[in-house]
Amino acid sequence: MPIYEFHCMKCNKDFELLVMSKDEVMCPACNGRDVKRLLSGFSSKSDGQFTSSQGSSCSTCSATSCATCGQ
Ligand SMILES: [Zn+2]
Repeated sequence: MPIYEFHCMKCNKDFELLVMSKDEVMCPACNGRDVKRLLSGFSSKSDGQFTSSQGSSCSTCSATSCATCGQ
């Protein structure tokens, strides 16, 4: 399961969360829902989670943005 980093816009805290659905993300400190997902480590953690729904641009690997496969 993917673990993402988030930043709470309300209390300015960063936290990591195991994400089932982005709609359920709440800040553990203030329970605020005004959070922003940080994309650090996004490409290295890409594991095919986004292949169908997000539309992978590369047919030979699971990266959503691939510069090494000739896409
Ligand atoms: Zn917060």
